[in-house]
Parts: sequence; structure tokens; C-alpha cells
Amino acid sequence: MSAKDYLEKDYYSILGVAKDVDDAALKKKYRKLARELHPDTNKEKGAEDKFKAVSEAYDVLSDTKKRAEYDQMRTYGASAGGRGGFDPRNAGAQQGFNGNLDDLLGGFNLGDLFGGGNRRQQKSRRGSDLETEISISFNDAYEGTTVPLNLRGDVTCTNCKGSGAKPGTTPKKCSSCNGTGQTMRNAGGFGFADTCATCYGSGRINEQKDPNCSGTGVVKETRTITARIPAGIKTNSKLRLKAKGEPGSRGGEPGDLILQVIVNKDDIFERDGDNVRVTVPIRYDEAVFGSQIAIPVPTGTTVTLKIPSNTQNGRTFRVKNEGMPKTTGGKGDLLAKIEIVVPQNITGKAKEFLENYAKEVTHDNPRAELIAQNARRKR
Ligand SMILES: [Zn+2]
Ligand SMILES: [Zn+2]
Repeated sequence: MSAKDYLEKDYYSILGVAKDVDDAALKKKYRKLARELHPDTNKEKGAEDKFKAVSEAYDVLSDTKKRAEYDQMRTYGASAGGRGGFDPRNAGAQQGFNGNLDDLLGGFNLGDLFGGGNRRQQKSRRGSDLETEISISFNDAYEGTTVPLNLRGDVTCTNCKGSGAKPGTTPKKCSSCNGTGQTMRNAGGFGFADTCATCYGSGRINEQKDPNCSGTGVVKETRTITARIPAGIKTNSKLRLKAKGEPGSRGGEPGDLILQVIVNKDDIFERDGDNVRVTVPIRYDEAVFGSQIAIPVPTGTTVTLKIPSNTQNGRTFRVKNEGMPKTTGGKGDLLAKIEIVVPQNITGKAKEFLENYAKEVTHDNPRAELIAQNARRKR
């Protein structure tokens, strides 16, 4: 039970007993109500809430120490001219009060009484984590990058410091709830406290709203933050940017920003873990005779790859340390797959030579073994 509960709830009326009720009568009344409202027997809508309220009330009033504290809190509220006017700064001066006021008040924040805020959120609250997604190029993932992110959301209005009142004006006591922030409702003989619909529980009405935030105490703002994307990031990775999420309220810490990074496909390179795959076209003669060829690497330059003689189509060569940067340091490898290309057009001497070549290899049938193998299966 918090001090706020003490201030807000009328345990005597919840139990339907007089303020001077003795222990025996209190117990009797509680037992009767508990029987009627117990969720196992009473399936009526709202019965469970009433049961909880009754249990809470009894828990306080049946305990001599708690009841004394409760009575004291309620008395202060009344003597100060309504609970909304309860001022803990003055309360300490009251005679006969021996408890530790800070303890009793718990997280009770005086500013909330006079602000436009919801009393339920009176304690400082950590901001929510926000999630957003960005797409980056393969090259940005390779090199690492920084990206500006525009985040739109609620921030506390600086003009009124979140109160919603026009600066220089003082909020008035809410007449609907007489400044208590709550209206009492009678349900089945029990008094229940509802948050005041006029002042939303603040107990105060801003007669002159802050024009900057239309009296809400919050404004939408676009924040631009810079996210650093480490080199070698994999697609769908989530980065947690500490304290870059929603701002906290009442001095609470900001939440984090969870950034999901999508790495777009590249026209040349394909990611394979820390390795990078590339397909490299070579001529027939380069494959037959062997050659030294320049192949592209993710840095934007080339490295020389040695193709041995009689290299078959589709063979993959590994070029060490030309892949993706690893998060643990170093780099993966580049895996270069050889693809023998057929010329689109062949003319002149090259055509002549190739025709002569063809004549020389007429009897060399590369499908002979395939056909023989197939025939053997039918025997
Ligand atoms: Zn404002
Ligand atoms: Zn009100």
C-alpha cells in the first residue's frame, strides 16, 4: 500500500463501516463481504475488483499500526483543505506525526498534483524502447557507416515543463472533484474511486493552456540521431542504441533504440557468412592455357587471381582476407567462381582458328562417357 493509496482510497466506505468501528465489527463485516464477493462464488462483472478493494481495505484497517498511519494521512488531507491541497512540505510541521513522511509518501511527487499529468504515472518512468528499421547498401555494410535517423515522438514540452499551463499562470483546483483527482461512485453499497474525468486525476485545471502544447504538456518532435553501423554487419542484425529511445518521464532514463539493419543485395557480391562470393567470367582459352586475371574485390579495386591450366567451368577459387570484415577482427575470404563464357560474336582470324580447331577435335566427344553410362543402366 502506498501513500497514494492512503490518500486516494476511503477504506471505511469501501467496507461500509463507521470511522470508529471496532475490530470485532470490522472483522464481521469483512467476512460477510468477502464471502459475497469471492471470485470463486461470485461471477458478476466487477466482483473480483470489489473483492480486491475490500481485501485491501481490510488489510489496512485490521492492522493497528497501518490503520493509525492511514487515519493520520487522511486527516492531514482533510485539514489541508482537500487531498489535492495536501502539501508534504507543511505536513512535517504538524504535531503528533511521528512517522517518516518520505516513507509514507513513497514516490509521491508533489509536481504531479499541480501538473496536468496522470497521477498513475507519478513515479519517474524509463522511456520505452523504440524499434526502427533501416536499409543499407552492401558497400556500407562492408565499410561500416553512420546513418542519420529521424525519430518522431512525444517529448516533454519545454515551454510549460510538462504542466500544460500557460507559463506565468497558476492552475486552479478542479471543481468536479474538489481537487482530489477522484470522483466517488457508489456500486452495490460500496464507494469506489474513479479518476476524475474533468482533470484526468490531476486535481487541477489549467485555465490558460500553454499554446505551445495545447495544454497537453507534451509535444511531438522530430529528433535526429546518428547511428553508427559497424563494418561487417549482417542483414537483419539488431543494434541496440543505448538511451536513444523514447525519453523518460519525470527524470526517468530514456529507453533504447533497437535498430534492425537490412543489408540490400549487391549486383556483384553475395554475402556468405563472413565470406563474399563473386562470379568471374573467363574465356575458354584462359581456362585451357591458364592465366593471370584481375578480379573485383569489395574494396572497389581488383586483385590478381592465377587460373591454372585446364581449369574446369564452375571451379571456385578462394582469395584469402578479401571477404567481409569480421566482428572479431580480420576478414573473411572472397570465393571466386569461374564461369567460362562463349563469345557473342566471333569473326576474322579468331573464327578461322576456331574452325580449324574444331576440325582437329571432331572425334573428341565430351558426351561419349555420359551416353555410355546411360546405356549401361538398361542392360
Ligand atoms: Zn506546454
Ligand atoms: Zn477533477
